[in-house]
Amino acid sequence: MPTTCSACGTSPAALRRPRTGHALCRACFLAAFEEETHRAIVAGRLFRPGETVAIGASGGKDSTVLAHLLQLLNQRHGYGLHLVLLSVDEGIAGYRDASLAAVRRHHHRSGLPLHVISYRELYGWSMDRIARHLGPRNNCTFCGVFRRQALDRGALLLGADKIATGHNADDVAETVLMNFLRGDVGRLRRGAGAGTAGGEGAVPRCKPLRHAYEKEIVLYAYFQGLDYFSTECVYAPQAYRGYARTLLKDLEAARPSAVADLGHSGERLSLRSDLRLPARGTCQRCGYVASQPLCKACVLLEGLDRGLPKLGIGKHQRLRDKLRDGQPLTEEERRRLGAPAEADGEVPEQQEPGGESGVQDKERGGRNLRGPRDLDF
Ligand code: SF4
Ligand code: ZN
Repeated sequence: MPTTCSACGTSPAALRRPRTGHALCRACFLAAFEEETHRAIVAGRLFRPGETVAIGASGGKDSTVLAHLLQLLNQRHGYGLHLVLLSVDEGIAGYRDASLAAVRRHHHRSGLPLHVISYRELYGWSMDRIARHLGPRNNCTFCGVFRRQALDRGALLLGADKIATGHNADDVAETVLMNFLRGDVGRLRRGAGAGTAGGEGAVPRCKPLRHAYEKEIVLYAYFQGLDYFSTECVYAPQAYRGYARTLLKDLEAARPSAVADLGHSGERLSLRSDLRLPARGTCQRCGYVASQPLCKACVLLEGLDRGLPKLGIGKHQRLRDKLRDGQPLTEEERRRLGAPAEADGEVPEQQEPGGESGVQDKERGGRNLRGPRDLDF
């Protein structure tokens, strides 16, 4: 005899919730998941009426479920939000082009406006070209730094008050683990909280799904028949996050509440009062938030543009100082910074004339994205 739904007591159960173990029918699961998301939005005071919210839309399951839920709950509960889909095109052939097609389908079906901003138009480099210069490792370092900034720049162009991202409970737990393993105390707080404040060129962010288990997001997308893209990025196998994910899966197998526990730990961490965190200022070159004279994106770009792609990663402060002081590097030092044995003569990628998002200099708030070439790390 089939199990009956523990919520309505009438329909046959269609699933057992990974989060609670309750057996629910499809309708009761969808209702519970939507109500929990609504409660998280209200309890966390994530939005205010009249705000424009840019939904970071990658075409994957999390952001597709987020966009669907925000549109549904905005109508159901009268949040009064103006919702816009904001996608970043990193320039990864066979991955991002296919996932952007899923975003476009969602845009046409839902009627939500869509804005796409690309690394090529912002930085003059696609991720595929960066990977050709850099090799198989560290691509996610570049991609993560550039994406964070690209989302802010896209949101500023749209006049958005907030960016909502599809990070789920598993993502938050992985981030907590990863930052523990790296000893990155500053990011530990940022990764687990409800969101981040804005300022200095950054738009406030929130994660309405941060308590939702990945498995339940997949179930929700399945039962709603949502159309999303699920192939992994070609550079993902090299990402450090993958090790944290594997470790988390092992922990979860032994203790199912490990995902929620880690997120909870991250939120409740208290920092020593005498701990000095880097002060936030603005980048001298592009005006974006930075804790050094140049923001991380500008340092990474400097390395790429000089043909020294590892200049901005790893412990190369001495070599950065040499460059800043105008001293020439030896061949060995150039090789350590990733310079090819001989220049490969590749022509920089052309900036698209406006692109899909139509980013023009005047729309960048008067900031100089590529900036002067004098170096001050
Ligand atoms: Fe970018 Fe790495 Fe994510 Fe691929 S896996 S989209 S390179 S951050
Ligand atoms: Zn900068």
